[in-house]
Amino acid sequence: MAVEEVLDRKVRFWADTTGELELIAKTFIKTEMQALRGIRFQYAWRSPARKKHGKPVYGECRKCSTRERDLFSRDVLIVIAQPTWLQFNKKQKQKLIWHELYHVDVPLQDTLEPEVDDRGRIKFYIRKHDCNLERFYDELTRFGPDAEERTAIRRLSKIYREWKTENGAKA
Ligand SMILES: [Zn+2]
Repeated sequence: MAVEEVLDRKVRFWADTTGELELIAKTFIKTEMQALRGIRFQYAWRSPARKKHGKPVYGECRKCSTRERDLFSRDVLIVIAQPTWLQFNKKQKQKLIWHELYHVDVPLQDTLEPEVDDRGRIKFYIRKHDCNLERFYDELTRFGPDAEERTAIRRLSKIYREWKTENGAKA
């Protein structure tokens, strides 16, 4: 579907027919996210981007309802905001797709196969972000971090140190 047609109809969401999103996702699924092999993804665009706290949301990942999974043979919908995507470089695009895929948590059995329900649907969950430091810097300065916050800060600073060792000179 050409973008012009979409704009003419004032559609805000459309399926990705370019294969660009799927191609990036497939590489990750093949190399490091093999548990997602059986999940049927639908990749789509939206424009304009949804806003959250005044900032554009780059992507969204949603589990399809049971009815949608049966009707459309899709398990997960990944929607990417096209205006921001078009400004992303290759690494930012990969990071975003990796992020959305990482939301999909498929527990594997001992056989390394996913569990299926009585209708043959793969059991999976939408994983929530585990790095959420919703604080004010002034608040942390004034009161100090509690135990949970200290763990988060330690992990973040470890990630930062390692990143800086690898990329510091270029960054
Ligand atoms: Zn997310």
